[in-house]
Amino acid sequence: MNLIRSMENFVFGAECLGCGRASERLDPWLCPGCVAELERVSKVTLFPGPDVYSLYPMRPITRSLVHALKYKGVSGMATYLVRHSSAKISGVVGSELDLLPKPLYFVPVPLHRARYRERGYNQAEKIAAALAVCADGRVCKWLRRKTFVVSQTKLSREERERNVQDAFECVLPKEMPSRGTIIVVDDVYTTGATTGACLAAFERVLEKGNFGGGLPVLKVCTLLYDEPASAIADYAADCQMEWDAD
Ligand SMILES: [Zn+2]
Repeated sequence: MNLIRSMENFVFGAECLGCGRASERLDPWLCPGCVAELERVSKVTLFPGPDVYSLYPMRPITRSLVHALKYKGVSGMATYLVRHSSAKISGVVGSELDLLPKPLYFVPVPLHRARYRERGYNQAEKIAAALAVCADGRVCKWLRRKTFVVSQTKLSREERERNVQDAFECVLPKEMPSRGTIIVVDDVYTTGATTGACLAAFERVLEKGNFGGGLPVLKVCTLLYDEPASAIADYAADCQMEWDAD
């Protein structure tokens, strides 16, 4: 941080990651107004599919915070968002997790190696770690990316689905769990193509194996649910393209 910026922060307070305005009362990332807004938004828990939990809807504030997690190096935002969500013990998703067969295995969607090098961490791993603390589970890196997938935001829905269908494989321990719940964790759920491909990778292994009559339950948990229509708007913004209203 340069000197002028440091002095500005000293005088006006640092920038809130939610609204971008300077504040002297950050907690440490959000101003009081954004903390209240996040609390309000956290009450909208979403179930985009029968086995899918999303902790927040896509709103300006959650979009900014997940952007900070993915692109501004604020890795601690994963824990912050999970702690303020309904995944905590008394929350809606917390109660759902409580009812699932134990133990809970939180499996992050792996990041492509090149992206990992660039970012220095996998945001899905950070979210999985926060969820594991919240719900008394463990993080298990049981998935691996098989093929390079071009940036998902630059593809149409059909192309995305085709691309990710076979993109993951399981790297399971010798003793595959025969009970409990495997929860695939990702940052954003849109069409479900990515997490669906992860579940398919588990299903392929579970169908083949001999698990003595027991099988783990499969679920998905993401920080955000983004409706496909708004993902298209994101794509347009990402590419800085003129987007025809038709
Ligand atoms: Zn703010």
